Amino acid sequence: MFTDRDPLLEGLNPPQRDAVTYRGPALLIVAGAGSGKTRVLTHRIASLLESREAWPSQILAITFTNKAAGEMRERVEQLVGERAKGMWISTFHSACVRILRREADHFGFTKSFTIYDSGDVRALMKRLVKEHEAEAFGLTPAGVQSRISKLKNELQDADSFSRQANTSDPAERVFAAIFQDYQRQLRKANAFDFDDLLAQTVFLFRAFPQVADKYRRRFTHILVDEYQDTNHAQYQLIRELTKPVQGETMDLGGGMLAIMPEDEPQGASLTVVGDSDQSIYAFRGADIRNITEFERDFPGAKVVLLEQNYRSSQNILDAANAVIRNNFDRKDKKLWTSEGEGAPVVGFTGYSQHDEAQFIADEIEAVRRQGVDYSDIAVFYRTNSQSRALEEIFIRSAIPYRIMGGTKFYDRAEIKDALAYLMAVVNPADELAVRRILNRPKRGIGAVTETNIARFAADNDISFRDAIGHAAEIGLGPKIRGALDQLDGVLREAQAILLPEGEDAKPTSVTEGLQILLNKSGYLDTLRRSRDPQDEARVENLDELVAVTREFARNNPEGTVVDFLTEVALVADSDDLDDSTGTVSLMTLHTAKGLEFDTVFLTGVEEDLIPHRISAGEPGGPQEERRLFYVGITRARKRLYLSLAMTRAQFGEVSAAMPSRFLQEIPAGLIEWRQSPGDVNGRGGTQSRALNANRPRGENRWGVKPLEKKAPSAALSEFTNRVTGKVRDNGDLELAAGDRVRHDDFGEGTVDQVTGVGAKRIAHVRFDEVGPKKLLIKVAPIEKL
Ligand code: ATP
Ligand code: MG
Repeated sequence: MFTDRDPLLEGLNPPQRDAVTYRGPALLIVAGAGSGKTRVLTHRIASLLESREAWPSQILAITFTNKAAGEMRERVEQLVGERAKGMWISTFHSACVRILRREADHFGFTKSFTIYDSGDVRALMKRLVKEHEAEAFGLTPAGVQSRISKLKNELQDADSFSRQANTSDPAERVFAAIFQDYQRQLRKANAFDFDDLLAQTVFLFRAFPQVADKYRRRFTHILVDEYQDTNHAQYQLIRELTKPVQGETMDLGGGMLAIMPEDEPQGASLTVVGDSDQSIYAFRGADIRNITEFERDFPGAKVVLLEQNYRSSQNILDAANAVIRNNFDRKDKKLWTSEGEGAPVVGFTGYSQHDEAQFIADEIEAVRRQGVDYSDIAVFYRTNSQSRALEEIFIRSAIPYRIMGGTKFYDRAEIKDALAYLMAVVNPADELAVRRILNRPKRGIGAVTETNIARFAADNDISFRDAIGHAAEIGLGPKIRGALDQLDGVLREAQAILLPEGEDAKPTSVTEGLQILLNKSGYLDTLRRSRDPQDEARVENLDELVAVTREFARNNPEGTVVDFLTEVALVADSDDLDDSTGTVSLMTLHTAKGLEFDTVFLTGVEEDLIPHRISAGEPGGPQEERRLFYVGITRARKRLYLSLAMTRAQFGEVSAAMPSRFLQEIPAGLIEWRQSPGDVNGRGGTQSRALNANRPRGENRWGVKPLEKKAPSAALSEFTNRVTGKVRDNGDLELAAGDRVRHDDFGEGTVDQVTGVGAKRIAHVRFDEVGPKKLLIKVAPIEKL
């Protein structure tokens, strides 16, 4: 059936081909980073289509981000052309939304349900915690939110949780009550939170086997990328979908049921690919066991191992292997490449995070001069807050960059307001959205009016949205009444555009609807009249949102406003609004999963950052951090930089940092260390020093306290030596003017003089090749000749 010259098999090694051509119920591909797992999955889909074993509509492929889904779709199209249309390639969440929108009426939701993001959930949670007076029991909105999220990922629903809850513990009782109330509120608002999208789909399949059957019949091939990061709910969803079609049940009377057999009783064929060394979402409930127990859950599964890495140079792989080897409880696998050693990994220690950022900016320019495009360079960090120092320097150095994930475009207040306007039209039951726009722009509607509207709605058993249309009956002053009537009118006008009724309704125009809402509500005018420069930026952002709706209409000629809102709600961390090329990508390590770049800077390689402080108390925490570090390293194709700073300002405090334990796990020979530019050892540029020139003494631009004045370079040397494991103690070394010494890096030289006492003795050495240097004798890598 397949020949070696098959274009689908070209450019694949033998085990990869095996994985592409295998046919059977279950296939597991386990392999390290960069070994072509995603590529194999793509080729496998193409091969199923090409051979006509599957129609596009019979394929369900799950990727980790929408962007990855888009790329996979594009690749398949390149391989098999038009035939790729109609496949479901999406994230778990997107697939579930599609299913739920179709089936919502089975359990009392409508197609146009809202998807609450974590900000929406937090707002609701705050209200509930207050209403239940739960703070008295030590419950916080954030704590309740994360616990509910965990429970949902474990497929626990609110009612069964309440039944099992330990009712003798009052805090537990209150929590259970909030959980139930929260679910009631979601239902009332015709809304799902993110975790519900998964959990409710599983519940739907279990409660309505005939609905599940519909999808079981449809999807004959299910393929999952990044399987190591699936949580319990996702795993159960896969299990539901791969069960054989249950068939019609027929009542035989007398309590006997018979199942009418199906023609094809076997379940969908399942392919999963993953790497247990890259499991980085255990904190969100991902379970590595999904991989390790695959063979038990799917007996007879074929397992394919891939060991050749096509992404990184050997040096980078060696560093990755050396680190991950320290995790216990894992199968050792060794990645190799035929690419050759490549450049050494570069290590850098700076005085501060600004120094570190400056080094990165300088190196980016240097790498660029060697012909690497900005878009092929990425900078990773463990926590979002680390991006600020980088951004400051990048802006000053005119390096174009974008932040993936982090503060998203869609998290901005004005964008959320605009979306709430759309939501209020599309899903009037979404009270959160309606309340949000009630007084934006300011209409003189305060808390009292809001309460009155809510009371009127409750008394008359209508929704909050509908109550707005009854301003006259609520007994409000004429000004407020006028404001509410006006809002009601705008919402209706937009509704006629966005949700046209009748047979010959023209296709909905999201752009037009949005413009009506923003203009006629007075929202845009208020911003335009404001003198606040921030409001100017807000107007621009809203213009951008209008542009997004146009783009959406171009890409989805049939797309409705509900489709638009779904797309917006599901934007994931590494999905990007505009994928304009020519910018350096900044992102957290979590976001970096699955991606690759020519040059990678892994920053802040310090204790308390990576491994992160919060991981210390978590079971398996440090191991997960090591996997995260491994994910970061293995994104690099040719150049990898590991950088850290001696001091770091966080939460307004400057503290001394310690090198990450993971650095010590990398053999010293793999890393070429550089210190801060501007140190007395004189390597590198001078920009770091220039930055702080002309500033008042004792202070720099960031208000970071300068390091102790005495021999900062010596302190840095010591720090670097600690990092590199070259810890020396030359405390006893007797040196005097005229002595000859040899230094590990600088070669031989003559001592001019020795100053200081005890551990702080400094040798002033004139090196034959590199000239004069000052060295802290105790730690300098020197010996007396
Ligand atoms: P990760 O674990 O990071 O998700 P992966 O196993 O999914 O990695 P891919 O992204 O599929 O790996 O592949 C890594 C790189 O190697 C890609 O650039 C891919 O195109 C390339 N590649 C994979 N297999 C081959 C091959 N047989 N020949 C040449 N290049 C390959
Ligand atoms: Mg991959």
